[in-house]
This record gives sequence, C-alpha cells and structure tokens, in this order.
Amino acid sequence: MTSPGSPVTVIGAGIVGLCCARWLQRGGHVVTVIDPVSPGESCSFGNAGILSKYSVVPLVMPGTLAKVPGWLLDPMGPLVVRWRYLPRAMPWLLRLLAASRATRIPAIADALGALALPSIDAYGELLGPADFADLIRLEGVVNAYESVADLEADAPAWALRRDRGARFERVDGEALRELEPALNPAIPCAIYVPDTGHTANPLRLVKTLAERFIGDGGEIVENRVLRVECGDGGPRALHLDGGAAHPVETLVVAAGAWSHRISGPLGSKPPLEAERGYHVTIAGSGISLKRPVSLASRGFYATPMEAGLRIAGTVEIGGLDAPPDYRRARALLDHGRLLFPGLRDGTVSQWMGCRPSLPDSLPVIGRSPHFERLYYAFGHGHLGLTQGAITGKLIAELIAGRSTSIDIDPYRIDRF
Ligand SMILES: Cc1cc2nc3c(=O)[nH]c(=O)nc-3n(C[C@H](O)[C@H](O)[C@H](O)COP(=O)(O)OP(=O)(O)OC[C@H]3O[C@@H](n4cnc5c(N)ncnc54)[C@H](O)[C@@H]3O)c2cc1C
Repeated sequence: MTSPGSPVTVIGAGIVGLCCARWLQRGGHVVTVIDPVSPGESCSFGNAGILSKYSVVPLVMPGTLAKVPGWLLDPMGPLVVRWRYLPRAMPWLLRLLAASRATRIPAIADALGALALPSIDAYGELLGPADFADLIRLEGVVNAYESVADLEADAPAWALRRDRGARFERVDGEALRELEPALNPAIPCAIYVPDTGHTANPLRLVKTLAERFIGDGGEIVENRVLRVECGDGGPRALHLDGGAAHPVETLVVAAGAWSHRISGPLGSKPPLEAERGYHVTIAGSGISLKRPVSLASRGFYATPMEAGLRIAGTVEIGGLDAPPDYRRARALLDHGRLLFPGLRDGTVSQWMGCRPSLPDSLPVIGRSPHFERLYYAFGHGHLGLTQGAITGKLIAELIAGRSTSIDIDPYRIDRF
C-alpha cells in the first residue's frame, strides 16, 4: 500500500499507461509518466476504436482451429506467421493452442467479461461527462457475415457472449441495409450488438487524457527506460537513455508489447508476443457509417473515424522489430470493398502497430511477486482500448491498498 500524495512512476504513455496515470493522480498521487514516444503514438494510435462490454471471446476458440491452416497459407489472410520468426513464436503459439481447449474457455471468458462489463462506465468515470460525450459514441456495432453458414459457425462465440449478459439481434437483408445503407447488398446477415461504443479518434482519446493529466500537475518525461534498479524493498531508480537516473518509489510497468523487456530482468517472464495489426484510413472514402462494422471471416473492423473510414485488423506474428509489410494494409482496402462496393480510393494512410498479447487472451494486472511497490499493467492484446480505463482503476485501487472492484487473480503475472 502507498499513501496518497506519494510519488508513482508509470513506464509507457499508451492508453493503458495514461489511464493508470490519470486514476493514480485522481487518487492523490504525484505521478510521472516516462516514454520516448508522444502519448498514444504506439499501438494505441491506430486501433479500430471499439469499446465492447461483451469482449469475452478468446483469441482462438476450439472451432476456429480448423481454419488456421488455411489462414496460414494465405499471405494476405487474417493470420500470418513470418516463417523466419516461427521458431521464436512456437512456444507462444503452443500456449495459444492450449488456451483454446474447450475446458479452458469458460474461465477465460469470465475473466475477460469481468474487465469488459465495467469498461465503458470506467471511461465515463475517468473522463467526466464532457470529455466522454466528446470522445465516445454509443451506437453499437454490426458484425457482418459473408454467408449464413459463416454466421451459424460462429454460434459458440455468440453463446459465450449471451451467457455473460450480452444483448444482440440477428439482422438480415433489407433490415441490415436500413441499419447501414452503405453495406454491400450481397452481405446476407449480421449480428447487431447495441450496447457497444467506439471512439472516432483513439489518438485524441489518449492525448486528451495526457492533457488533463499535465493540466492537473502530472509530468511526462520523453525518454526510454533502459533498466530498473531495485533494492531489497523494491524499485529505486530508472536508468534512462542518455545516462540520467530517475528515482522511483512506486513503479507501474505499462509498456505495451515491450513490457517483458522490463519485467524479465526483474524476475517475471510472461510469454508476451507482438500481434502485429494494420490499418488503412481513407479520407474521402464516400462511405458513411453510423457505427463500426466487422467482417470476422477476414479479421477486420471498419470504423467511422474523424479522419475518415478506418479498416483495421488482422494478425501478423513476426516479432517486435521486423519492418511493417504494408501489403497487408493494402489487402485490408480490398477486403473493405467486400463490405462497401462504393468505397472510393480517397486519400489513404497506412499503419502497423504491435498488440501486446499473452496466449491466454488475458492481460497482466497486478503486483510483482518479487518486489514491493512494483506493479504491472500490460498484455491487453486486441482489447487494450476497451480494458484501458478499468485497468487503470484496478491499479490505482491496488496501489492504494483498497480491495479491487473485481477479483484480479486471473491476471497475475506468474500464472504461466
Ligand atoms: C489493428 C488493431 C486494431 C485494434 N482494435 C482495437 C479495438 O477496436 N478495441 C480495443 O479495445 N483494442 C484494439 N486494439 C488493441 C489496442 O490498440 C492495444 O491493446 C492497446 O493500444 C495497447 O495499449 P498499451 O498502452 O498497452 O500499449 P502502447 O499503446 O503500445 O503503449 C506502450 C508504450 O510503452 C512505451 N515503452 C515501451 N518500452 C519502453 C521503455 N523501455 N521506456 C519507456 N517507455 C517504453 C512505448 O513507447 C509505447 O508508447 C487494436 C490493435 C490493433 C493493432
């Protein structure tokens, strides 16, 4: 437990780090965030913007496994592994397979659900009514299917959501066109989930948190942490690029896909992998959407953003440091035309980001088993935007020594 007013340092200025920093600041702490990159400009920059209270389905379900070989053979498919990286990815992939066993799914879905259900309300609390209304839209999401057979094959995932309280309805034909007129008439059916939100600008969401944080006296230091020095009692100093040392009392590691490089030397080596994803954002696309639309069979979402229509998704396993393969971004443009035949070329920007992913689809949220005053908040995979605010709330509760609003045992760093 740390007393209010005491200093806390957060490594990482993505959505997770800034949410932790802002909750801690509201709890009375003097908070510093350290990151060489401007707030929100890593993975949190280019996501699909969806905040879903029913994100309870793990990365791989038992029924998905049969599709994996076909995906792997299609270089522009929803999942690709760079062959040269395969030996390094293999242990993570094997754990992913183990986590997809039918016996493990209910517990994983429950643990995802515990974070997802309060996720939008946690943003409401953190942002306050004016910023929430400015940044978050509550219009639901449409999950489109290329065939009725595809929809029926997805029934186990919808059952998982329904069993955890999700409201949704199947929409066919003309009713679907009324919901989203830009949709291809060849798309036969979809599931509409009303209780879901999105942000039309994920970067502006993080920048707003950073502005409020600085406005209330928080400090953001632009530098990279090279090493954490710990004594018997816990962290003592951060050694930064350029040689400076930054003294620390309580430390939160929220460094996204790079977090294992910090936690490893501190005795915790969770199997964190970069699930690289891409987007194209098309300004002047000619497509007007009220809400995000997904096409699960191709692994992407199309979201109406302030900057244009964003088509984002797919997974590439190739490590943190390999250069982007922007052919995958361009393939998303082709996939987008399946949903929206009227999609115009417009002005296209492309992007790649590294999702910080653990093979059981759950993040790490909690205290170090080795050091006092050292906390971890990373590994949110496909759901870091959704889970950001609730993660920050849990970290602030934990550091204050209060009982956490949900049971955080499933997110322990030493569960592997
Ligand atoms: C294509 C795509 C679509 C997505 N869509 C969604 C979606 O619709 N909904 C959703 O909920 N999630 C979505 N996600 C996932 C979400 O974007 C991520 O889970 C989230 O951004 C992770 O946030 P983070 O703060 O953990 O990491 P990041 O945003 O990557 O931030 C981590 C920060 O740590 C810093 N850092 C690393 N090492 C150090 C160091 N040594 N010293 C100092 N700083 C360091 C980095 O510079 C970085 O700025 C999507 C992801 C992708 C790729």
